[in-house]
Amino acid sequence: MTTISPFGSPLYILAKPAGSKCNLACNYCYYLEKSKLYDGQHAQIMSDETLELFIKQYIEAQTTSSVLFTWHGGETLMRPISFYRRVIELQKTYAAGKAIDNCIQTNGTLLTPEWCQFFKKEGWLVGVSIDGPQEVHDRYRRSRSGRPSFVQVMKGIKLLNQFGVEWNALAVVNDKNVKDPLAFYDFFRSIDCHYIQFTPIVERLETHADGRKLAAVAEAGEGGMMPMSVTPEEWGNFLCEIFDEWVHHDVGNFFIQIFDSTLANWMGVQPGICTLAKQCGHAGAIEWNGDVFSCDHFVFPQYHLGNIHQNTLLELMYSDRQMSFGKAKHDSLPRQCKECPFLFACHGECPKNRFAKTADGEPGLNYLCKGYRRFFAHVTPYMDWMKQELQHKRPPAAIVELLQKEPNHFD
Ligand code: SF4
Ligand code: SF4
Repeated sequence: MTTISPFGSPLYILAKPAGSKCNLACNYCYYLEKSKLYDGQHAQIMSDETLELFIKQYIEAQTTSSVLFTWHGGETLMRPISFYRRVIELQKTYAAGKAIDNCIQTNGTLLTPEWCQFFKKEGWLVGVSIDGPQEVHDRYRRSRSGRPSFVQVMKGIKLLNQFGVEWNALAVVNDKNVKDPLAFYDFFRSIDCHYIQFTPIVERLETHADGRKLAAVAEAGEGGMMPMSVTPEEWGNFLCEIFDEWVHHDVGNFFIQIFDSTLANWMGVQPGICTLAKQCGHAGAIEWNGDVFSCDHFVFPQYHLGNIHQNTLLELMYSDRQMSFGKAKHDSLPRQCKECPFLFACHGECPKNRFAKTADGEPGLNYLCKGYRRFFAHVTPYMDWMKQELQHKRPPAAIVELLQKEPNHFD
């Protein structure tokens, strides 16, 4: 049975107009192998018919007055500009008075003046994947033939700046760049990038009959951790070191998504990052052929909700199955999390990473738990202080001034 009970909050769908196609083949990519779900189907790009249906249904599924489209990959710029011009045409046709925004994620290597002109004109926000300084970026972010990509990405960023396009960085934290957090953070400051998101690599290996190699959370992960993954200790250390630098110098000037979301949880408001939210389920993914999955990190056959050519997005995203998926984030927490003093900030992080066991052997603990516990304990006095400032309607950025006068104030 399908329950249609839309929330008052927006629904997000990451759309894959080029499926998992990409001009790069980064060693740690979790998405490239998704093409194997569609083996034998050649094009694997979104048709005009699917695009139109998606845009229509996505706008209709929203209960809010604005709609955010997120174009994701694979590499989104593998589709021509004409595809995105058509997107705009269709959005106008079906907007029904709603305000439409677009953001697009790219590896940055295919950006040209024409793309930048288009993004500027249409007011699109561009997310660029870049992993830090050249030597760490080029370690894993390479083409199929092994050519490094840093120089191309930086050319793309220069073009975005030249055309005044709004952009932010999405950095993958791996076993290499995690070891030098300050060099990593300094790099983003040096290129004047003020909005930064970090995603840690946590992947396990598992052999599948169709050739896929990454394990879904409920699978055993017999092949062990993917070697580019971070350890919980490294992740905790990475967050703490960058936080210290940020809190002493950059609050209010550089925006680091995980720190802002942590402060949001300290304030009891919805964080901007799903991993630190109490529930998930309101952010699905749509593949090139209209297949809808529970989340971009759950594009596995087990989490296939249906296809928009058979059911509407509203039916799929508010189905009992998806509702249970969203609620399970909280309901399936092990006792250690339920009793954790930082549950309000962590919420057990992403269910995709919950394949570890608690000290007393209960399954379902987040692999990164140790790192998060260290981070949340470390930031507590600073977060308490910033929370108090916000409650008194003062900017939390005043913490920088305080720490400049009294560097050891919180010791
Ligand atoms: S499963 Fe993980 S990535 Fe997906 S919505 Fe939930 S927390 Fe976010
Ligand atoms: S820090 Fe660890 S125990 Fe606490 S909520 Fe997060 S994952 Fe659970």
